[in-house]
Amino acid sequence: MKEDVTIGVLALQGAVEPHRAHVEACGARFAAVKTPEAFAQVDGFILPGGESTTMLKLIENFDLWDVLAEQFRAKPVWGICAGSILMARTVLNPAQKSFDLLPITIQRNGYGRQLDSHYDLVDGYKVSFIRAPVITEAGPDVEVLARQDDVPVWVQKGHYMASAFHPELTQDYPSPMHRRFVDLVRKSA
Ligand code: GLN
Repeated sequence: MKEDVTIGVLALQGAVEPHRAHVEACGARFAAVKTPEAFAQVDGFILPGGESTTMLKLIENFDLWDVLAEQFRAKPVWGICAGSILMARTVLNPAQKSFDLLPITIQRNGYGRQLDSHYDLVDGYKVSFIRAPVITEAGPDVEVLARQDDVPVWVQKGHYMASAFHPELTQDYPSPMHRRFVDLVRKSA
């Protein structure tokens, strides 16, 4: 168990900076990372919420796919909303490329349009669903950490975790999700 860990948030696009206070409240170091050199320095990755298509384009334009895939094999990863789409095995609406870290099927914008964005409580903590994807299938070995209306919204398998919602936008530090992820990184480091 390594106490002194660095959590790298992939900083190509999306909600990066709001993670800082949560990560620091867990006693870990925050780093916004976008180069192979920076990736190598972190103990775990957060793939933030934002727009998965834009993130994919930037990953390809900067030729980061292979280096990220290699990093993700070795370290814990938590994908939030768009980040969870990048982690899924299968993406629908429309289909798009993904890193296949979790055996889940995910439907982009499955809760509807921007107007259907909403707050909810997960583990007693207020979280935001913003043009969120719906996890339509999860493999039998995927642990469902939370459901909303019977639909899994927070899942984990081994050192990979995904949430359809954003906890980082809530200014009550740290969120239970950040706490769980930092613990996971500490155990894996
Ligand atoms: N709708 C976005 C996508 O498909 C995800 C939204 C979010 O990350 N808040 O990538």
